[in-house]
Amino acid sequence: MSNQPTLVVLGASGDLASRLLFPALLSLEYRERLENLRIIGYARQEWTTDQFHENLRAAIDLHAADVDEKYLDKFIERIDFHGGDLSVESLGSLKPELDGPAIFYLALPPGVFADAAETIANAGLADETPGFRRLVIEKPFGTDLQSALALNEQLHKFWREDQIFRIDHFLGKETVQNMLVFRFANRFIEPVLNANHVDEIQITVAETIGVEGRSRYYDGIGALRDMVQNHLIQMMTFATMEPPALWDAEMIRDHKVEVLKSVRRVDPDRDAIRGQYTAGLVDGTPRIAYRAEPGVDPVSHTETFAAVQLHVDTWRWEGIPVLLRSGKRLAAKAHEVVFRFREPPTRLFRHTPLEHAEPNWLVFRMSPSECTELVVRTKQPGLDLEARESVLRAEYATPDDREASAYESLLLDVLEGDHTPFLRFDEVEWSWRIVDPILTAWQRGAPEDYVGGGDGPAGQHRFLGPGHYWRPLLNSTS
Ligand code: NDP
Repeated sequence: MSNQPTLVVLGASGDLASRLLFPALLSLEYRERLENLRIIGYARQEWTTDQFHENLRAAIDLHAADVDEKYLDKFIERIDFHGGDLSVESLGSLKPELDGPAIFYLALPPGVFADAAETIANAGLADETPGFRRLVIEKPFGTDLQSALALNEQLHKFWREDQIFRIDHFLGKETVQNMLVFRFANRFIEPVLNANHVDEIQITVAETIGVEGRSRYYDGIGALRDMVQNHLIQMMTFATMEPPALWDAEMIRDHKVEVLKSVRRVDPDRDAIRGQYTAGLVDGTPRIAYRAEPGVDPVSHTETFAAVQLHVDTWRWEGIPVLLRSGKRLAAKAHEVVFRFREPPTRLFRHTPLEHAEPNWLVFRMSPSECTELVVRTKQPGLDLEARESVLRAEYATPDDREASAYESLLLDVLEGDHTPFLRFDEVEWSWRIVDPILTAWQRGAPEDYVGGGDGPAGQHRFLGPGHYWRPLLNSTS
């Protein structure tokens, strides 16, 4: 037996592995965080390790920034390739290699997760006698509540919950994690994040891209399942959870589940709207309609935009709408969580231009740049009492390769066995419980059209109270 850990990447020939996982691992090499980790790439290709290395170098050339040859060579040396399918015999051939702790990363299509997890166990590879055994899976965890429960039941036949690391890569993003630090490490902010001071929370994940090469996966899935059920609802839990007493994975996840269980049952007709992009101009370039995209059903009712109004029925958030929206082919890329503050109680500045100034906003922005902003009203310099919007900004990074960075942090946490940024099954289950009634309702009817390159369907504005508006998307590029 050895105490050298091995990371086995199943589906090592795929997009996730070559575009995100291996570049993130290389970056950890560069930061000297991989220690004595061994990596095995596994796929159904009849490649030699040398051929795999060659492909990997090409992929890294394409997807990794600023490659330092010294670290690249060291990284490549850690990696072996094994060709094989997902049968007990093929996977069993890995057994002699795995005489220490091992992690199995399923970079595989979601349809084969359950079988792969079962076969790994049946091949004797989940047995922890040589050292810990961990299983990493990526969303989607099912396509509705029933399929998620079924997938989980299957996984739990062979793997304990504490062996499973469910990745939602948004949870590896600096700014999502910073929501907890900013909220709970600063004495002055947490006391005002409640219904006494905040009158609305908005969570937006807007993309300028369309379905790109993903139509085979996306058509029939749509924005509610692809984005809202996981990324946006997760961001909501970070924004609204109570402060845990300890920085402890189980305690943090308990508090997130508490939020999910507190969400009032949605009325799909009142609380949810969907849209689908038509042809339009994005950044001056003409783009085709969703239904004209290659691989998309020409009469598809799949939504490329979803907006949902939720209420978290806790003392802290009583009566406050939490608005989630996500869409493709919008005017700008923007990922943000925004708290909108109430007006001050006194009317000190009545009859001055300050009366009509912008509200205060607290913005946690993940994209295009990563930062936290506090939008405040200040006096315009000059002789008159005029207001201007000032932005207090804490910057993290520029809009470069953040995706890989989220994977770096998540991979490191898997290696260290820290479950904090991973989803426990009850989080997955309760997120599906929130969106399931909408999925059922959306089996009928059709999404509203919206012009590609615009702000999304007009229906999204109907959730908003008098005088309220969605933070403009173009603001987010500032
Ligand atoms: P791919 O469709 O590219 O599949 C990955 C690899 O899995 C393929 O290269 C193939 O390797 C192997 N594979 C495909 N079908 C089967 C099968 N029936 N049995 C066994 N192996 C099979 O997927 P991605 O790399 O795009 O994604 C992997 C996972 O990550 C998915 O669950 C996806 O939802 C998730 N994900 C992906 C993201 C991305 O950006 N790509 C982002 C977030 C999540 P071979 O044929 O060589 O064995």
